[in-house]
Amino acid sequence: MMTTKQHQLTVLGSGTSTGIPMVGCHCPVCLSPSPLNKRLRASVLLDTANGQRILIDTTPDLRLQLLRAKVDSLDHVFITHDHADHLHGIDDLRPLTFPPRPPLSVWTHEQTHGAIQRRYPYLFDPAAGRLGGGRPNLEINALDLSSGVTSLELKGDQFELFLNPHGTQHSMAIVHDSMAYIVDCHEIAPSHLEWLRSKKLELLIIDCVQKEPHQTHLWLDRSVEYIEAIAPKKAGLIHMGHKLEHIALERELSVLKSSEIMVCFDEQVLTYRTA
Ligand SMILES: [Zn+2]
Ligand SMILES: [Zn+2]
Ligand SMILES: [Zn+2]
Repeated sequence: MMTTKQHQLTVLGSGTSTGIPMVGCHCPVCLSPSPLNKRLRASVLLDTANGQRILIDTTPDLRLQLLRAKVDSLDHVFITHDHADHLHGIDDLRPLTFPPRPPLSVWTHEQTHGAIQRRYPYLFDPAAGRLGGGRPNLEINALDLSSGVTSLELKGDQFELFLNPHGTQHSMAIVHDSMAYIVDCHEIAPSHLEWLRSKKLELLIIDCVQKEPHQTHLWLDRSVEYIEAIAPKKAGLIHMGHKLEHIALERELSVLKSSEIMVCFDEQVLTYRTA
């Protein structure tokens, strides 16, 4: 019997930049005892049908996320953009590059690459860490995404990358076979929506920070509008703030007749088919 190979996506963190609970906040969601309302910073892990492990974003919670998901090696890392909640755990990749392991390849777009160089010059200095301490041994690659959707093949895994506006900067959307990961943007261009629809996605993980309109993020109405435009088989909301209570939001979404929309939660494991 033929079995269709599946890719796996693990939600390492489903929360907005502060994480939930937010330090100092006593709102019902931050005080909720439910694990569904405890959200580390937004990140996912892909286990591809080809046997590769790929991390998207290095959050300030990275060490805990890698331990919790029992990650003891990675093949590649994508970084969507340079905001602290997506980048500032990058040093926690260090143990995964200790000798005799090879350098770990990191893929991002030019704007973020420039920010990493300015913020973390030691990552690019081969002399750093010769005496104790050390630095993660990374090969940080800058992708030019200025001409639109750009393909990248990593040892048999096909990725398509493009930029979405995120406040004054841009965040990299990542498409792998029948899955798209779109975080930290306030809009998606109509041409990209159309292209995503033509992909007949099985899984779309999409930004949704709150219900009220937001200047740099998608908010519930807009996330749902885009999900309907893209029409994946199933969609999951991520990067959620403390005004979104898991069960209440799930109930609200269940009355919608369109695509199946899930509220992502930490340690959730999803699958999607190979293209
Ligand atoms: Zn963010
Ligand atoms: Zn709160
Ligand atoms: Zn951001």
